[in-house]
Amino acid sequence: MDRRLTGISASPGIVAGPVYVLHWEVPEVPQRIVSDEEIPAEIDRFSQTLARARDRLEYVRRRAAHHAGEEEAGIFEAQMLILQDTDMIGRVDGLIRQNLAAESAFEITMLDLRHHFARHASAMMRERVGDLADVQIRVLSLLLGLPDHDPVDVPKGANAILVTHDLTPSLTVQLDREAIAAIATDAGTRVSHVAILARSLGIPAVVGLRDATSRLRTGEMAILDGAAGTISVNPTADEIRHFNERSQREAKLTEELDLLRSAEPVTLDGQRLTLRANVDFPEEADFAARSGAEGVGLMRTEFLVVGRTTMPDEDEQFRAYKKVAESFHGAPVVIRTYDIGGDKLPVGGHAAEANPFLGWRAIRMCLDEPEMFKVQLRALMRAAMFGDVRIMLPLVVSQEEVQQARALIAEGSSELEARGVAHRKDIPVGVMIETPAAAVSADSFVGDASFFSIGTNDLTQYTLAIDRGNANLAPRFTPLHPAVLRLIQRTVEVGDANGIEVTVCGEMASQPLTAFALIGLGVRSMSVSPRSVTLLKRLVRGTTATVAAACATKAMGARTAVASEAIILDAFTRTFGEVAELLDGLPHVM
Ligand code: PEP
Ligand code: MG
Repeated sequence: MDRRLTGISASPGIVAGPVYVLHWEVPEVPQRIVSDEEIPAEIDRFSQTLARARDRLEYVRRRAAHHAGEEEAGIFEAQMLILQDTDMIGRVDGLIRQNLAAESAFEITMLDLRHHFARHASAMMRERVGDLADVQIRVLSLLLGLPDHDPVDVPKGANAILVTHDLTPSLTVQLDREAIAAIATDAGTRVSHVAILARSLGIPAVVGLRDATSRLRTGEMAILDGAAGTISVNPTADEIRHFNERSQREAKLTEELDLLRSAEPVTLDGQRLTLRANVDFPEEADFAARSGAEGVGLMRTEFLVVGRTTMPDEDEQFRAYKKVAESFHGAPVVIRTYDIGGDKLPVGGHAAEANPFLGWRAIRMCLDEPEMFKVQLRALMRAAMFGDVRIMLPLVVSQEEVQQARALIAEGSSELEARGVAHRKDIPVGVMIETPAAAVSADSFVGDASFFSIGTNDLTQYTLAIDRGNANLAPRFTPLHPAVLRLIQRTVEVGDANGIEVTVCGEMASQPLTAFALIGLGVRSMSVSPRSVTLLKRLVRGTTATVAAACATKAMGARTAVASEAIILDAFTRTFGEVAELLDGLPHVM
């Protein structure tokens, strides 16, 4: 076995600890039949297995509620309902009576249910496909005598590296930070939601390892280097020495960066930037506010919906948005309306579409479900009474989407007025520039959009036609491709010419090398993960905007992504010298 596995850097930090492999995939079911005499015992075996699965699920739910909170642990309620569903049990019993073994009968029934749910007209029902898959894995593992384990089984203080195929919502809520120190997954890329989640939680992570679950064994010692995207198994004395040195350097850099919290992000030639924070969970707001960020540039509201059986109502959403607004004491708080679909959680949402990234998601879904959308818009307008809350619309491709959203905001406002509820009617409404269409025709939003925010994760995906979540394509996912750079520059130009603020809130802003290129393209406002705010201040304060601009112009004229990256990397390394590697946690390509 190779001693070193290389994947994609997802969340920085270096951890040495035991590996914990979690096989959370639907197992292969060998076809088996039972004789007529065996049928009653088989029905009994199935019923006892369901009882064991329910006990186990209740245990997992309690443990998750303990460290993640009761509301988050609610994700298991739908799974419990499936385990108790009399229709499902009746169908399985019926198939056993036709001489199928319990596991075969259960598998057929679940496949049928998944198929049915995946094609359901209601999005909420389609989202249940993920729960069905979880139940299928749990029950089949018990019926087949496979190890039944869950992340909550990792003992506190284990400092474990959790290795799994992918991180589903139900696995995510089980992550106890006192037990699990790092995450490694076969699937995913830097911009997939596993990675974004790991960065929000501050857990070092490597994704896109492809076959880590089959190459690693539970209990093996390993070093996971989140910035380098590597795992060293059974490390040598040399690797351990390197680990110690690297942790010391990282700790020293963190200490130095901490001193920059209240420093101004001003370049060496006097350009003042605005640095805001990306917030994925309302609970992160206080941490983000202490990070030195001047507000929130992107709050991803879809994480409020993860694992729920119903959408959060107006009051619940209002409380969440108000909490974030209040944490920032009047600084701008940009809240994005639901961006559900694509690779966005809940997992089940994309089973029904052949091309979910080109599908019914984000603003498209919201405009088609106006009643659901207005609940969110009303909650946002109410929260805007407690801070500078601004609305941001995702995946916009043309002007009428903004106008339709504005019409719904006006309707929502009249509804609140009729109820006598205080709210901000003239709440600013901005658009995300994350499709080539929006970037090329950015001028068509002038007059309708209060601000632009460039989502470079999707902009790169749609410009290069490279699936952001596909680990096999990760080396081709090159945000420094000249085409992407030109679209960003065009958006900045339109913004500057019309007095519209342009922020970049995609991952390019959070990474020093790509952020250096953004400064060169004229970007003066960025929204980054809270843990990157001081790192970005360090970057800005060491950059000369005119040098970055000359290098960005040259990169835009390059013929290939490789050439463009080399130009940026060269200027970056010359600017930052010895600290360049540490600052950027190279490898540089996302
Ligand atoms: C983006 O696309 O760059 C972005 C910020 O949004 P998300 O990553 O949530 O799609
Ligand atoms: Mg996006």
